[in-house]
Amino acid sequence: MITTSALTDRAIAILGHLVGFDTTSRGSNLALIDWVQAHLTEQGVESRRIASPDGGKANLLATVGPAVEGGIVLSGHTDVVPVDGQPWTSDPFVLTERDGRLHGRGAADMKGFIALALAAVPLFREGLKRPVHLAFSYDEEVGCFGAPEMIAVIARDLPRPALAIVGEPSLMKAVAGHKGAAFFRVVVSGREAHSSQPHLGVSANMAAAGLITALAGLSLDLAARADPASPFEPRGTTLTIGRIDGGTATNILARRCEILFDVRAEPGQDALALLTDFRARVADLDARLKARDPDCGAVFEVQADVPPMAPEDGAAEAFVRGLTGDNGAARTVAFASEGGQFQNAGFSTVICGPGSIDQAHQPDEYIALDQMRQGATLMLRLAETLRAG
Ligand SMILES: [Zn+2]
Repeated sequence: MITTSALTDRAIAILGHLVGFDTTSRGSNLALIDWVQAHLTEQGVESRRIASPDGGKANLLATVGPAVEGGIVLSGHTDVVPVDGQPWTSDPFVLTERDGRLHGRGAADMKGFIALALAAVPLFREGLKRPVHLAFSYDEEVGCFGAPEMIAVIARDLPRPALAIVGEPSLMKAVAGHKGAAFFRVVVSGREAHSSQPHLGVSANMAAAGLITALAGLSLDLAARADPASPFEPRGTTLTIGRIDGGTATNILARRCEILFDVRAEPGQDALALLTDFRARVADLDARLKARDPDCGAVFEVQADVPPMAPEDGAAEAFVRGLTGDNGAARTVAFASEGGQFQNAGFSTVICGPGSIDQAHQPDEYIALDQMRQGATLMLRLAETLRAG
């Protein structure tokens, strides 16, 4: 039987390889997937890719242990957020240890968890009565676009798993729920003219102002309607406008105005449904602008819609608490994950992974060595538990 410290060392060596692949979401993750697939093959584990529609990226799915029902899905995303413009002390794509911390893009979010799961594969191959399913996705950070197809394959082709553990950084605590994350874009198109002659053109900015005001109003409404008993921080569904980009100069009627906004919905609320009135307003503006000039208009687009994960007090949370010994109060987080997608597919789901979300997406992102050790302990207990039945 391998010791915790040997398993930790093995995971750190694997993490070094994973961090070395620049898997920023805008690029391909296939070099990493190739490496992981080869690593699994060496361990005698078959895996299958579920490719993105254009083939430039892929999910990787592998079952370790017997092909029977009641397995545990270990879910992790392989992509990372950009390092552009961030002041890093060391190369973000070289895992670097300083003061008990392993620095590198994705070290916490969430290649550390993937490394631990891969390091434990030899353990999972010995005498498990129920399998572990490794489910590694692409494009999580830009809207959880990769996971749904893989989750559909899991639901359709695998002996029914009992539950899913999403290894987002939670300092190894069980997290039972999260808000959704829906990203929207509105583009208003106008017609340029000299600003002294507004009657000769259409200012996209002036037209967009009403929409911006409506969103600001809706944001306040949502805050006022927040359930005082909400377990989330902050309470209630939130809406923020992240970017407004419109016009060229003071004396030119704006040809284009783009508004990017997000809705972070609590479980039980649907972001798109909350925008019914707003979408009607966009449609109305579109009709009015087109009446003035057929080339003008307003378009509403859904860029991403990641569902919330509802606290369920279910099998997954109980299972993880059994592994970690965590008996603290139920926890929720405001950030979104693939957890809601697993839950919507009918799987009991919990978030539990090493590292802190506070270090995710930051310059000098790191995972503490002790978190890797705790992660190794979790994998050892998981193997023991699945060996027992
Ligand atoms: Zn993440």
